Amino acid sequence: MMRIVYVNGDYVPEDEAKVSVFDRGFLFADGVYEVTSVLGGKLIDFSGHAARLRRSLGELEMESPVTEEALLAIHRELVSRNGIEDGLVYLQVTRGVADRDFAYPAEPKPTLVLFTQSKPGMADAPMARTGLSVISIPDRRWGRRDIKTVQLLYPSMGKMMAKAEGADDAWMVEDGAVTEGTSNNAYIVRDGTIVTRQLGEEILHGITRKAVLALAREAQMKVEERPFTIEEAQAADEAFVTSASTFVMPVVRIDGATVGTGEPGPVAARLREIYLKESRKAAI
Ligand code: PMP
Repeated sequence: MMRIVYVNGDYVPEDEAKVSVFDRGFLFADGVYEVTSVLGGKLIDFSGHAARLRRSLGELEMESPVTEEALLAIHRELVSRNGIEDGLVYLQVTRGVADRDFAYPAEPKPTLVLFTQSKPGMADAPMARTGLSVISIPDRRWGRRDIKTVQLLYPSMGKMMAKAEGADDAWMVEDGAVTEGTSNNAYIVRDGTIVTRQLGEEILHGITRKAVLALAREAQMKVEERPFTIEEAQAADEAFVTSASTFVMPVVRIDGATVGTGEPGPVAARLREIYLKESRKAAI
């Protein structure tokens, strides 16, 4: 099926969606992105993603090419034109086209690209019933992981390392503590308390993380935001990850060690259920 893609103001068939070889996103990974889930044809937590985009752009001294209102309209238009029921909208902003030079161009004209991916039944992923197995790898990314840049080569390498070991994903470790998953935030549950690394420059400030922690607190669950080790995670009752495209996903093996019973745990299952229910309710 030929998708309709948004490129700098135009809606075009995907085979006509092109960006210059001089685009700084291509030459310098000088760009940021967001991924917003779509359930039942509606956007999940659009305002959260728009707020983080604004922050990422601000940290890189980049202008937003369009207003938040216009951005919402583009998201909706793409969902509608591509008939997306369940899936996601990918958005990327780069500093735009300029002759190759490390210094930022004086008058940048940002590139804005959005496309959709259809994922029928994504809220009912079989993985949510079996759980993921993860391996640990050293965190070798740059130091500003709180900015959602398109520098995703190390996370890609991490997924390949996991695949080579027959695992589903990798958790990254720095100075003895877990930072996060290659494309998700990482959590453990011990004696009913949910533990996840505190916010900082070491991790991406997950939009799903924020929503899930708020819902957990509302449901009177105890939350601790602090670093934890792989050993602590292996000995935990439960482990899970969160992201916009996988919601809450249980983790049942870490470096070959079984977590808890080896089955998805009740806290992760409950959080997944609450998160999906509340997100669908608030979707726009
Ligand atoms: N950490 C990393 C490194 C990620 O790539 C992602 C997903 N893009 C997340 C966490 C989860 O963030 P969100 O809940 O906003 O999708």
